[in-house]
Amino acid sequence: MKRLPLPGLNGLTPNTIFCIGRNYEAHARELNNPVPKRPVIFTKPITSLCFDESIIPLPADFGEIHYETEIVVAIGKAGRNIPVSVAEEYIAGYAIGIDFTARDLQSELKQKSHPWEIAKGLDNFAPVSSFVEKNQISDPNQIGLRLLINGEEKQHGNSTDMIFPIVELISHLSRYFTLNPGDLVFTGTPEGVGPVKSGDKMTAILGDHITSLNVTSQAE
Ligand code: ZN
Repeated sequence: MKRLPLPGLNGLTPNTIFCIGRNYEAHARELNNPVPKRPVIFTKPITSLCFDESIIPLPADFGEIHYETEIVVAIGKAGRNIPVSVAEEYIAGYAIGIDFTARDLQSELKQKSHPWEIAKGLDNFAPVSSFVEKNQISDPNQIGLRLLINGEEKQHGNSTDMIFPIVELISHLSRYFTLNPGDLVFTGTPEGVGPVKSGDKMTAILGDHITSLNVTSQAE
């Protein structure tokens, strides 16, 4: 499979897709999950990555598919055991993305203590907008994010409400995984997640329209 470069980042090729679960307290509570003491980490396959104007397939028999709007960080240089104090240097840029989740299936898998990859990792379940270079964001701890579905606001949040700020996530991930250029980190969703139906037009927006993502869902 030929990997397309990350839009907006000068030929940086996507690599591992890391995702953080339950990074906003209000979202952990809305799904009756405990607030974590350490970041909850999972990954998505590279085939789940897609870009602006993509179609998101909703498979039959999977139950509800939820949107989770998230700030996405692209890593710009390799590192391991990165201290929090210098973690910002490893960021190449930011985008807005949606972590699509087959919620009914995920709940069933969680109950059985099974891995939940299939509920999170289907083709096109990780769309991201065009990236902006990190100097376009003055304060990574004050980035707004929003989601509109068919023009109606469904989610809005701000990175200031993250349980683990972006630099802590990078530092924490790098204790266990060597980070590489092109790695992506989905940094968790604020509250307001919910189901999508076929034909929904979703617009996810980073900050004050710094960059945005448009995708449409379609039943399979
Ligand atoms: Zn998520």
